[in-house]
Amino acid sequence: MDDTCIFCKIVAGGMKARLVYEDDLAVAFEDINPQAPHHVLVIPREHIASLDAMSEGQDAVVGHLFRAAAAVARERGVAGEGYRTVVNTGARAGQTVHHIHVHLLAGRDLRWPPG
Ligand code: AMP
Ligand code: ZN
Repeated sequence: MDDTCIFCKIVAGGMKARLVYEDDLAVAFEDINPQAPHHVLVIPREHIASLDAMSEGQDAVVGHLFRAAAAVARERGVAGEGYRTVVNTGARAGQTVHHIHVHLLAGRDLRWPPG
């Protein structure tokens, strides 16, 4: 746990979030500033600052985030129509919270390339 990290605080229960999924490795909750009708963040319980900070021993947990995102999408009935999973890494990609997270976006047409 990183005491300065807001997502670690959500995992520990010290900061409120609208949880939608949790298991031994991951937690998912509603994004506070949704960019689509469905906007969920899937994060590891373990603090990993970014994709760039990820080590080989963390392959399984990061892979697990995507499977959890797929489970949330299925559970919400949007898997058939399609959805987007995004990981922003670093300043130019707009990463603002330095605890790795997968954005799950769904419920509208998602343009490509993203902005
Ligand atoms: P990123 O820009 O990829 O680092 O994404 C960070 C995301 O976290 C943004 O979409 C924010 O709206 C979201 N966010 C920040 N603080 C919270 C919070 N306390 N609860 C839920 N979502 C949050
Ligand atoms: Zn953290």
